[in-house]
Formats: sequence, C-alpha cells, structure tokens
Amino acid sequence: MGRNNMKEILYESTRGGERNITASQAVLTGLAKDGGLYVPMTMPALPEDFFERMKDAPYQDVAYEILRLFLSDYTDQELRDCVDLAYDSKFDTPEIVPVNRVGENTYFLELFHGATIAFKDMALSILPHLLTRAAKKNNVQEDVVILTATSGDTGKAAMAGFAGVPGTRIIVFYPKGGVSIVQERQMITQTGDNTAVVAIHGNFDNAQTGVKKMFEDRDLAARLKEAGYVFSSANSINVGRLVPQVAYYVYGYTRLVQKGVLKAGELMDVVVPTGNFGNILAAHYAKQIGTPIDRLVCASNKNKVLFDFFQTGNYDKNREFYLTSSPSMDILISSNLERLIFEVTGRDAEKTADLMNQLKSGGQYQITEEMRAYIADFESGFANEDQVMETIGRVFKDEHYLMDTHTAVAAKVSADYEKRRDNKRPILLASTASPFKFAKSVMSAVDPKYADEDDFKLLDQMCALTGQPRPAAMRDIENAPILHKRECDISQMEQTVCEILGL
Ligand SMILES: *Cc1c(COP(=O)(O)O)cnc(C)c1O
Repeated sequence: MGRNNMKEILYESTRGGERNITASQAVLTGLAKDGGLYVPMTMPALPEDFFERMKDAPYQDVAYEILRLFLSDYTDQELRDCVDLAYDSKFDTPEIVPVNRVGENTYFLELFHGATIAFKDMALSILPHLLTRAAKKNNVQEDVVILTATSGDTGKAAMAGFAGVPGTRIIVFYPKGGVSIVQERQMITQTGDNTAVVAIHGNFDNAQTGVKKMFEDRDLAARLKEAGYVFSSANSINVGRLVPQVAYYVYGYTRLVQKGVLKAGELMDVVVPTGNFGNILAAHYAKQIGTPIDRLVCASNKNKVLFDFFQTGNYDKNREFYLTSSPSMDILISSNLERLIFEVTGRDAEKTADLMNQLKSGGQYQITEEMRAYIADFESGFANEDQVMETIGRVFKDEHYLMDTHTAVAAKVSADYEKRRDNKRPILLASTASPFKFAKSVMSAVDPKYADEDDFKLLDQMCALTGQPRPAAMRDIENAPILHKRECDISQMEQTVCEILGL
C-alpha cells in the first residue's frame, strides 16, 4: 500500500472498462484497453502550508512533492531518483523553469529550457525513468520499445529523453519532407545506441496509422516478446506525461509568492497555448489539488476547435484544417479533453464513452448546459496568423522580450482577456517554446527583411538581436554528424522495426 500518511491514488478509465489501476500500471500501459484515458479515482490534495513552505524550494523539490501525491505506488526513493535524473544539466539553467515578468502583470513560465527547447521536455525527460521503474515494479522482464510517429517536435523530445536509458529502445518515424529542416536535422543527428529514426515516404497520418497498426498486431507482439521486447508509447495521454506537467504550475505559483507578487492563498490566472489539451489539463489538475488558480484561459491558434467548444459546448472537428506558424497546436482532435469531459459528465463513464463515440462516428458532440456550468472557470480565445506576428513584434519592441509563435498565441489571447476582465490578478502564461526553435517566423515578425534568410543563419542573427547565446540544442546542428539515414515506404514500417531490433 501507499506510504506513511499519504492517500493511495488509484486510476480508472474514462470509459469505465478498468478501475483500481495503480499509477505504475497506468504509466506502463498508457492508454486503457477500452480506448479510454486513465484518470485519478480521487484527487490528492496539497498540504495546508505547502506554498509558504515551498516558496524558496528548487524546482526538483516541488516536482518531487507533486509526483508523490499522484504516483503513490512508487517509493520516495524511486521518485527522487526520477526527478534527479530528469531535471539536471540537460536544462540550460539551474532554475529549470524561470518565471519572467513581461509587461505589467504577466509572468511567463518558461518551459523551454530542456534538451529540445520546447515544453514537451518537461514531461519527456522524466517519463523514461518513470517507465523503466514501472516495468520493474510490475515484473516486466523485457526491454521497453517506444514507437513514436512525429510531425516534428515530439519525436526529438522523446529521443532526447530515452537516449541512453538502460532497458529502453526508441524508434521514431517522421514524414520525409514533412518536417522543417531544423527539426529533421535535430532528429537525424540524435546520439544514443538505443535510438533510431526513420523517414517514411508518406505523410504524418501514414506514420501514425503505421505505428498504431504495429501496436495492435498480436503476431508482432509475440515475436517481440520472444526476442525480449515489449512495445510502449510515450504519447501525451500517458499519466506519466500529465503528472510532471502539473508540477510546473504549482512551482509557478510558489515563485509568485517568492517574488512577493502574491501572498500564499491569493489567486492567479493561468493562460495556456493549447493543442492536444494536455498542458492546460495539467493546470486544471493543479487547481484541483489546491493551487489558488481562478481562471484557466485556453488559447487556440487559427485551428480554434477548442475556442468554439468553450463558447458553445459543441465540439466539432468537421472543419477546414490550417497549417499555421504554431504547428504544435495544429490539431483538430484534442485527445486529453476526454479527461475533462469525464469530469463534466459527473464522472459518468457511459456518457463519456457515448460522446467520444459520437466524435469518432460523426466528428462532433454537444454537451449540456449543466455540463457547461462545471467548466465555467475556463475562458477561451484564439489568435490568427497576423495577430501572432503582430504580438511577437510589438512585445519585442516594447519589452525587448522575444517569444516564439506558440507562446505568442497565448500572449495575444491573454492581452484580450486582460481587457475584458474586471480585476488585476497576476497572470501565469505558459511559454512553451524557445524563439530559437521557430527562428524564421519569429525573426520575420520582428522585421520582414528576415523572411528570405537561411534558417541556420537566422539563429546567429537572433543571437545578435537578443544578446543571448545559441541554446545548446541549436549549437552545431549544421555540422553535427548525421547518424540516422534510414528511409522506408509505408508498407515497410514493420519490417524496418524488425531490422532495427534484430528480429
Ligand atoms: C505540444 C505543444 C503545445 C500544445 O500543448 P498541448 O499539451 O498539446 O495542448 C504548445 N506549444 C508547443 C511549443 C508544443 O510543442
């Protein structure tokens, strides 16, 4: 059972097929067998004096306390080890998550100081360690093979997290010609004997479908098992990705207390640039466990399916899909929203499954007014492409602070929200990527003359403009040796996996 005076937290599927699952089983399995997502059966709670006590604590200590609350079948030592292995010198600052005031009342929670300079590092640098310990606890003898399809960012972040972690292998598929030059270079120069990258002759959907097919293939699973391998996934619905994300909202609050912006207990608002709804769901969980958050502001780009949902209660993916300058938010099916839907139905698995089936068959569903009342603390907004560019340019001019395109979506929505609310609560704004990662768009927003420049040259110009050094993730990528040259047709994905694993 759980540890001294801590409540044991067990998990259940949002679609009712599984209950009383331990945290480590949920981490290991990722998705429930009925297609649902694992959610805590009861929410843990922060101790009374938490924020006073933790206001000067380092990031690692806050993260450790949050993991302990949610992942109750891990030992304290296991969690401490996971935290220490994850949040170390891979980050370019000992603060791990700096909190910077920009403008009068807004605090940027910089989640981009990890190995790939985007916020997915926050979860993907710890997931491998949570996963290998989960495997041990549940007597899984095989090495864990992570299969991932990527449209650019997740693949690199997952590889960086799993590289060199004993007992794991990772294989990433990306669409040849479908990712940016910088993204491709980042992936094919990845070191680590346990990593492999494959360019497929197809698009992202083909890669995703191919990976799903392998996960469901029983013959392949049997062959793998014989060779000492088992598949797992690192995708964003895994509890092992969600829980580490709760930690940084709690940490952000402690810094506002430390800075004297808030007294422990006073409310802040949170603004999050949203795609798959994972990051903002983590903020909602932070609120549920007792972080003093009032409004949760969901910021969408031109693909504003979530904005429309919060405005009308109707989720409708039947619409035109836009490629924007914030590609990690170009999503029409926000998978993690299912966890919120489960709550708004009053934790009714049958109703949740019904709504999700409507989404699958007809591409839409409508929630009732009663359900909408439950999420009245969510605000929403969206930013179109011009507004994103305008925001980057204006804030750089006024504040000499350069932000990336995803963060700019949030900054625009945040500015609109500030105008319509009637109070001056501090705003914590999730800043999800370094401007260096999206140099072309960011530099053209500052001055259109940069629009035709070479991607790599722009990095140096950005250094000159901001006075900042190149982030380690962007150093030498032009010259780093190319270590992965595999390509394959869609029909050869399984065969390629077998070759890589030596089956
Ligand atoms: C993934 C991503 C997002 C969206 O996060 P979700 O958890 O999918 O809502 C926003 N910004 C960046 C830079 C990302 O990589």
